[in-house]
Amino acid sequence: MEIRPSKIPAEVAQVTNTLEKAGFEAWIVGGCVRDLFLGRTPKDWDVTTNAAPEKIQGIFEHTYYTNEFGTVGVVNDATEDERLKVIEVTPYRLEGEYSDARRPDSVQFSPHIEDDLKRRDFTINAMAYSASKGQLLDLYGGIKDLEARLIRAVGDPVARFGEDALRIMRAVRISAELDFELEPRTRRAMRDSAAQLEKISKERIRDEFVRIINSPHIKRTLVLSHELGILRYIAPELELGVGVEQNQAHSFDVFEHNLRTAQHAADKDWDFIVRLSGLFHDVGKPASRRWSEEKRDWTFHGHDVVGARMTKKILENLKFSRETIDKASSLVRWHMFFSDPAVVTLSAVRRIITNVGAEHIWDLINLRICDRIGTGRPKEQPFRLRKYQAMIEQALRDPISVGMLKIDGRRIIEMGEGPGPRIGWTLHVLLEEVLEDPAKNTADYLEGRAGELLHMEDQALRTIGEEAKGTKAAAEEKEIKDIHNKYFVD
Ligand code: ATP
Ligand code: MG
Repeated sequence: MEIRPSKIPAEVAQVTNTLEKAGFEAWIVGGCVRDLFLGRTPKDWDVTTNAAPEKIQGIFEHTYYTNEFGTVGVVNDATEDERLKVIEVTPYRLEGEYSDARRPDSVQFSPHIEDDLKRRDFTINAMAYSASKGQLLDLYGGIKDLEARLIRAVGDPVARFGEDALRIMRAVRISAELDFELEPRTRRAMRDSAAQLEKISKERIRDEFVRIINSPHIKRTLVLSHELGILRYIAPELELGVGVEQNQAHSFDVFEHNLRTAQHAADKDWDFIVRLSGLFHDVGKPASRRWSEEKRDWTFHGHDVVGARMTKKILENLKFSRETIDKASSLVRWHMFFSDPAVVTLSAVRRIITNVGAEHIWDLINLRICDRIGTGRPKEQPFRLRKYQAMIEQALRDPISVGMLKIDGRRIIEMGEGPGPRIGWTLHVLLEEVLEDPAKNTADYLEGRAGELLHMEDQALRTIGEEAKGTKAAAEEKEIKDIHNKYFVD
């Protein structure tokens, strides 16, 4: 198979062309070349050059200095595309000594592109491409590894992970995102170097972890991380579930069940928060497991409370935002909500909604769906759950009432009507009209129409007012029926 690069955006070619016209070399380099050959849209575009940072800044109109590595951000003010607004241009770098497995002690520039490719992490990330010449510089067999779908360290993997342990996380994350395998020697070096992750900041570990959770391959990737001794630097609490047998309703141990639950959220392409809370929803089970002689089975009373506390601690340790921590731990806390619609009342449903917050109630339902599938039960949404969803919608919907109108009793009194039943009759007639035609729900229209109605005699106004109340009740009934139809329940 011959793989070809996809099209390079004009904004990127313009940057390399400008550098070349000024007499410098310019290459598109790193992850974006990899993505170019995979036909994926790069997250960001990187250019490398033999021009020094001051020179780069001199050539382009709008630039800024981005970091201590000599990177210059070249700003394109004309484009709408967020990924092309800033293109990072970095001089060829030669990496200095590493003394702490974290970052080079010094950064030196080099006149040779070869030096810059040599310091990069994986063969598929160590290619450079010239837009003007259509030439690929592939010194480490990156294309071959792209074709074989392999992640292979550039040079000696043990040395490379020893220099910078974050590369271990990057390898796992890239394999999750691209669905690539680890080349065996690289894999072994990852396992042997995993303990160096101790030195990597929690924030950087978290960023790679987030990308694993957002990838399509959560389960496989976290199993791999566990096998290589990496998971304990992300969330060791998950590993407590390995081999922890559950009750008869479950086919898998706690570890696998958590992973399957998160994986189903990924399969459904559901939000990050559902995936994350799915991953941790039963993390409290190993600590809560008790044998019940009466049931002749294991019980896990309180695992939701324990699990929520553990989730909070895990996410705090990884320096997640307060918002994410609160959301995920609340979903874990309430994932055991009682959902038998034969017994559950609308007010109980309202209580659950208050507990997790109306804005997260559907995340909680999705978590329950994932939990079911993660247990090994084939049916995602049995009748019970659909019925429960209908009840939630019913509890969430605003009741049909005169409160929906863009006019109220106070305004009608201001219009000259004394307090009394005539106000209610008038509002109900207005509501009937608005239910018929929602476009009429404007202050202007309703005030005009109220003015007309208020001219009517008591008896006549009362008659149409009472009739209108009947229309409201029928409309209520229809809305609820529609909800039930939507979930195929009645
Ligand atoms: P993505 O852009 O999808 O996150 P990427 O591989 O492009 O993936 P970046 O963080 O954009 O990742 O880094 C760009 C390039 O810089 C990489 O492709 C790689 O060549 C190099 N690189 C990044 N981090 C490291 C590292 N820790 N060690 C060695 N090289 C690295
Ligand atoms: Mg990139």
